[in-house]
Amino acid sequence: MTRSSKARVITTLLAVGALVVGCEDRPAVVIEGERVAVAPYFDAPVCAGSVAEFDGMVKSVEHDSGLEGPRLTTFFWGPGAVEHGCSGSAFACARSEKAEVFGLLSSFRHEVAHVVGHRAGRGAAVVEEGFAISHETEKCASVDFSGPVSLRDYLDVTSDEIHASGGAAIGGHFAIYLGRLHGLKRWSELKVLVPPGSSIAELDDAFEVVYGMSLDDAERLWQAEAPHIMCPGQPEPALVWTGEPIVLAHDLDCDDVSTFGPLDQTISYFPSLTDDDILEVMYSRDRLLVPFVDRWAIDFDGPADARAFLRTRSCTASASSNPEQDRELRAGESVVFDIDACEHLILMAAPPDSPARVELRIARAPEGE
Ligand SMILES: [Zn+2]
Repeated sequence: MTRSSKARVITTLLAVGALVVGCEDRPAVVIEGERVAVAPYFDAPVCAGSVAEFDGMVKSVEHDSGLEGPRLTTFFWGPGAVEHGCSGSAFACARSEKAEVFGLLSSFRHEVAHVVGHRAGRGAAVVEEGFAISHETEKCASVDFSGPVSLRDYLDVTSDEIHASGGAAIGGHFAIYLGRLHGLKRWSELKVLVPPGSSIAELDDAFEVVYGMSLDDAERLWQAEAPHIMCPGQPEPALVWTGEPIVLAHDLDCDDVSTFGPLDQTISYFPSLTDDDILEVMYSRDRLLVPFVDRWAIDFDGPADARAFLRTRSCTASASSNPEQDRELRAGESVVFDIDACEHLILMAAPPDSPARVELRIARAPEGE
């Protein structure tokens, strides 16, 4: 997919306080939801379900953090947004003061958290990143307790260095752990009380005020109790595979809030920051939790260009995804294969221009097949 110059408009920005007119080559907003305006760096239509999902993410970050974000956040979406909007090796970024987010679906909640949290004030980088990571829902935070793991060790690290230093993961893991015990709102308070440049004594005092215990005690408990990998909650309810046949059927319509699109592959893959990240389709999304290894027989029906994608997440054996289990079926195809105990994302996709019905039938494969 190529980025179209048609989809872009030239925006002139007048720099305040100086008679300098800067030009930025940015795409136009193509669709606006309740809380998010979408400005894609690609040509594919943006479906109503994706906009509703972005709106929902803003509201859920606000609910969980206890903070109120700006009325409207602009999402500059796609690999081009990262290329033009973010510096260095970042996979996504936010300009919080402008309520702008640049990136792909996998980073959206994290960056929106920075935007929502900005209203309360920016925290020291380790606290700020901990805040954003604890509001993600897709990625698990892992930590190696054999190195320096106190917030204090990273208090001086700047936001440019915080990810590479490992401090972001430490802050995120600790924030998720504390969030499970006390809710996520307290970390919002901590972030306000520990701005960049805070001293260790100020961090210690703020922590005690917010959590009612010393940072030392809290970190000791965290290191003794917390699993090395802390995963945030499920973003959507999952169906559970019991071995009984399941039929998943959807009437896809890009204008309807039940239909997502385009397919941002970072939903299950690491961003490549190439055009491969975005597939020009509309699609449905089901999450099927498979608690045991099994063998499936699958039929898929839909219009000529329809495809079904099966992708794994949170596998029991690997604790992440298992790309070898990823499958793609064409309309009319029937297949039999082994499946792992994982959460399986089942995406049914069709060209976005006209409504389409898609149906996937899953049954346990008969013995010997
Ligand atoms: Zn961040």
